[in-house]
Amino acid sequence: MAISNGTTAPTAGTSKCLPTHTPGECFWQTARDELSDHRSTEQLPEHSDIVIIGAGYAGVSAAYHLVKDGDASKSIAILEARGACSGATGRNGGHCRPDFYGHILTYMDRAGDRAGAEIAEFEIANLRALKKIIEQEKIDCDFTLARSVDVWCNEESAKKAKVVYDRMVAADFEYMEDAVFYTGEQVEGICGVKGAKACASFTAGTMWPFKFIMHLVKDLLAAGVNLQTHTPVTSITSDPQGGFIVETPRGKMHAGNVIHANNAYVSGLLPEYAKNIIPCKGICCRITVPEGVTPPLLNNSYINRAEDNTLSYFVPRADGSIIVGGAANVFRPHKSQWYDNVDDSVLIDSAKDYYDNYMQRTYRGWEETGAKVDKIWTGVMGYSYDSNPHIGHVPQKEGQFILAGFNGHGMPVIWLAAKELAKMVSKGVSFEDTTMPRLFQTSQFRIDRAQAGREEDGDIIGTGSFAATRP
Ligand SMILES: Cc1cc2nc3c(=O)[nH]c(=O)nc-3n(C[C@H](O)[C@H](O)[C@H](O)COP(=O)(O)OP(=O)(O)OC[C@H]3O[C@@H](n4cnc5c(N)ncnc54)[C@H](O)[C@@H]3O)c2cc1C
Repeated sequence: MAISNGTTAPTAGTSKCLPTHTPGECFWQTARDELSDHRSTEQLPEHSDIVIIGAGYAGVSAAYHLVKDGDASKSIAILEARGACSGATGRNGGHCRPDFYGHILTYMDRAGDRAGAEIAEFEIANLRALKKIIEQEKIDCDFTLARSVDVWCNEESAKKAKVVYDRMVAADFEYMEDAVFYTGEQVEGICGVKGAKACASFTAGTMWPFKFIMHLVKDLLAAGVNLQTHTPVTSITSDPQGGFIVETPRGKMHAGNVIHANNAYVSGLLPEYAKNIIPCKGICCRITVPEGVTPPLLNNSYINRAEDNTLSYFVPRADGSIIVGGAANVFRPHKSQWYDNVDDSVLIDSAKDYYDNYMQRTYRGWEETGAKVDKIWTGVMGYSYDSNPHIGHVPQKEGQFILAGFNGHGMPVIWLAAKELAKMVSKGVSFEDTTMPRLFQTSQFRIDRAQAGREEDGDIIGTGSFAATRP
């Protein structure tokens, strides 16, 4: 039912409107946090000045910045459909890797050099801001700052990557001074990947996202934020007296402003985004070696493209285990297994065996380690039609904001995006006066372009495909 200046009520339980009740087990959340299922009050509060939908990286960070930098007198409630941080943030690869050149050139070609560079610079600033807050607040989340190595094992792709890299260097962006590209015989020795034809590296981070977010949740509760887990929002309608009525199966509450931070599921409450932000599944696993085996040390993170161009993101952990995922090339042809699919209770059938023997066949010196998949899981990303997140005022819905559509690439984006959005919500700052990249601004134009376009023309499955996982 469409309501003026409100949203269309989703049908709970239909695909893509709400998360499944029973996500599959995931390594990062094997040790449950005491706040996972927290409810600050038995009943929903009657009113909150700001209601945030979704307790993932976006929703929790937005609340954090509202509390730290906003108007302390404003009440905040977070309504979360499942447990806190049980969505993509609690199930991802833990790779916090700014995009230096991967897709930046595409954005430059679309909107000019500066528009592309802004994104890289924003993501690099994010990584630094994350390091700062983690150190400052002593957040125990296994954060590392190291080199991230890009590897191409396919000759033709390696050549194309070099052309892109050279174009980025020629553009003379200062941040590119941190990147280096290698070709030639030494490549395999530099990156340790068998059959590598080219590699590059730059500074990136890795972390345990669930621990990071749950630390922030604890701070938020101490600051008086009301968290209601297992409380899916099923509709938002305008209140004739001002503000909004937010409905859940546990009852209604009133909101002054609403922030939609429910990523893949955003179109359940904002149907105008149905073609802009599509739920797409990704697969990820943890590889371990048998006790007593000391495998070769890997202390860089990776994006690895195999000979057939199948991409894997790769995060080594201090305990000797490896987090690796991706494999989009393998499952892309089986569209119903991943596209417009919110079922993170099951694996992606066509890719579930891809990481068996991955270390043995990929990395030098790992052949005899006995490395094997210890845990494997899926998660649901919010894939954006044009690959950029949607942030800012929801067009034609004054008082409602969106912070969603981060693809497989939210880690180096969300922290500062949430900080800037918080300024818009609490201080009335316009998007143009924030530090956010212009291409991140949600707009009627972007909404209409996706609605008018064909699926195959978008970045998700189109020719400019950004793959189904893009950390
Ligand atoms: C397998 C996988 C691997 C990934 N690897 C990486 C990586 O290595 N690096 C990287 O940068 N990115 C990665 N990503 C992407 C990254 O995890 C996301 O971009 C990021 O976590 C998005 O955060 P979010 O808060 O917007 O979404 P989420 O964490 O999904 O949070 C949204 C929350 O909203 C809740 N919700 C939904 N609907 C409602 C409703 N109606 N009412 C109330 N609550 C609702 C959900 O339950 C969920 O908790 C990966 C994602 C996946 C799935």
